[in-house]
Amino acid sequence: MANCILLYSKEDERKLRRLIKRNTPSTKQIKAVLDLLRQGVGKLIYMNVKRIANDLKLDEVLIRLILHHLERMGAIKTYFRIYRRAEVRMQNADVKSLKYYQQDAEEIIRNAYFKKYLNSWIDLEVLSSSVQISIPRINNVLRELKIAGIIELEERDFCTPIKLNPGIKDVDMIELLEIFRRLEESNLKKVENVVEYLESEECKRKFILNYFGEDHGGACNACSVCNSLLRHLGEGVEAGELGFASVGAVNIGKFKKLEAEEKMDAGVKDTENLKKQELESHSAPWVLGEARDPKKIPKLIEFTKSENGNERRLAVSALGKLSIFKPLIFEAVPSLIELLEDDKPQVRQYAAKAFGKIGSEDALPHLKRLLNDEKPYVREVAIEAIKRIKNAKRKFKKSMDEKKLIIIYSNGASKGNPGAAGIGIVICDESGRVVKEHEEFIGAATNNVAEYQALIKALELACPFLKIS
Ligand SMILES: [Zn+2]
Repeated sequence: MANCILLYSKEDERKLRRLIKRNTPSTKQIKAVLDLLRQGVGKLIYMNVKRIANDLKLDEVLIRLILHHLERMGAIKTYFRIYRRAEVRMQNADVKSLKYYQQDAEEIIRNAYFKKYLNSWIDLEVLSSSVQISIPRINNVLRELKIAGIIELEERDFCTPIKLNPGIKDVDMIELLEIFRRLEESNLKKVENVVEYLESEECKRKFILNYFGEDHGGACNACSVCNSLLRHLGEGVEAGELGFASVGAVNIGKFKKLEAEEKMDAGVKDTENLKKQELESHSAPWVLGEARDPKKIPKLIEFTKSENGNERRLAVSALGKLSIFKPLIFEAVPSLIELLEDDKPQVRQYAAKAFGKIGSEDALPHLKRLLNDEKPYVREVAIEAIKRIKNAKRKFKKSMDEKKLIIIYSNGASKGNPGAAGIGIVICDESGRVVKEHEEFIGAATNNVAEYQALIKALELACPFLKIS
């Protein structure tokens, strides 16, 4: 079972710890579930976990967790969740294309009860005894018919079939409580590991490889520790609040692409001539800025060191125009900070203006010094820039606080590998409440493919809950 946790901030860490603690059932909660199960010893029951959770005022996940451990102790046996009611609309009756359940499908479609209740709710228990096919099998038949486009299908009344073994009477509460205590301990340890990973100052790749007991071959140049360009990605958030490594992984592709483009350009014969022309002209920095091309940033940084004040001013102004190209623009931050103390007031003015757009907090103390600048227009721009940087920080923090934590459980498996395959997904909010469930028959596939499909589908289904797309 894949357990996917995306950790963003300290608050997420706290939420996750609270969630783990809440998912440890109490003696009273375990007893409530056991009492219910003990009523049907020796029988196969169909448990609608959602309904039971409501009745017992317990968390659905908690009940599933208790069931899972009772199964491991041999007290019960659970089967794939089934639906006991279905609404079927026939599209056509050509079952020849079916791969797995052709014969059963013919049987069901011929059945009088099935025919009578088409387009309304069919009780699968009644159908099962009429066609002599088990409910789980009917579930699969109907799903294959749906995938083949033969029927439209709506499923309802989801239940987990549970076989209650005689051992359910002798379950040791102390043993069960001890299992949950150990589980809580190991889950909290996992959170600690993730935090340690995020806060570690060593190469992120090395950390992961070492964690799995593997050797490391030196700096990877692809993580936020090894690559300085990725270090500023979380600009605007306090240090230690963010897991930069994961953000870096997403952006590195973009950065590599720029690097590749640069290499390609180097081969173009006109480039050298163009550069010469640019160097000869004092308005070159302006041209570079107008191109709105992040590849020009290093060149513009060179221009900020120019002896010519006008050139410095134009370079700073151009860098301001390229402020949207993060993280590359952060390379210019040290040079721009120097220019906040430039002899020419217009250079100081434009440098302050650029920081308002780039939003680097490193510049704040230097900008504050400009509040006493001799030129009123420099002071004005500095006030504006400080306001913008602080606002950006506040906005970013707010969006981080509003970001919700969700927990995704996904799994996929095939019968036969490859063979008839299915996926299952449960998405919980941060209180552990199930917000989305999904199960799907995906046709013939390998175990591996089913696992990936489950994860991909899970991430798709999770988007609306995270307000992302
Ligand atoms: Zn690294």
